[in-house]
Amino acid sequence: MSCKKIIAIDGPAAAGKSTIAQKIAGCLGYVYIDTGAMFRALTLKALNSGLALEDEAGIKRLLGDTQIKLTEEKKVYLDGEEVTDAIRSPEVSRNVSLVASYKAVRDEMKARQIQYASNNPVVMDGRDIGTAVLPHADVKIFMTATVDVRAQRRYQENLKRNIPSDLEVLKKEIKDRDELDSTREHAPLVKAADAIEIDTSQLTIEEAVDKILKIVKGGD
Ligand code: C5P
Repeated sequence: MSCKKIIAIDGPAAAGKSTIAQKIAGCLGYVYIDTGAMFRALTLKALNSGLALEDEAGIKRLLGDTQIKLTEEKKVYLDGEEVTDAIRSPEVSRNVSLVASYKAVRDEMKARQIQYASNNPVVMDGRDIGTAVLPHADVKIFMTATVDVRAQRRYQENLKRNIPSDLEVLKKEIKDRDELDSTREHAPLVKAADAIEIDTSQLTIEEAVDKILKIVKGGD
């Protein structure tokens, strides 16, 4: 093992991508990049700055003046301030798809993501990694789960973080976000033709990790 240095994991909201991608990166000694955290950080900054989220040009300017740092300890820094938990708020979740739909935002995020991958072997998760950001990734996974399972997982996660939530509301928010992400004009959420689909609905985290590690190691 292994000349497979670039692993792209895409899929809809709350399918388990980040938990599983993190573990895979840990097993392989690769860097894990959570691209959703980057869009979330920008959304948080836009919300805090009072900018109208419909102001595409304003958001573009804001990003130009924004430093987002993802650390090996899975912490997220926005202009030097830790926002690891703040970017998971329901308000950010509700608004991130709009911010992520803008072409200028996507272009700049893509440039930053390619930069990360050029320096290190990576496991990168997101929505458009296998299709747009790293189309030459060595392994592409498209991770799914039923919306009921995904909402339930997010609900449990929120409980642990002390974020009050309602299962039915979460289900609707997840569906809405997937709809926006799948139907946007630029780099929509779609399975790459050469991606391997893994439905995690019935899998434990360990089973999903094992499956992907086998795919990564197989064919070497
Ligand atoms: O992965 P996560 O759910 O944290 O992503 C939050 C949002 O960021 C997604 O719903 C999507 O709108 C956006 N996103 C994206 N492209 C990526 C990663 C995330 O558009 N590669």
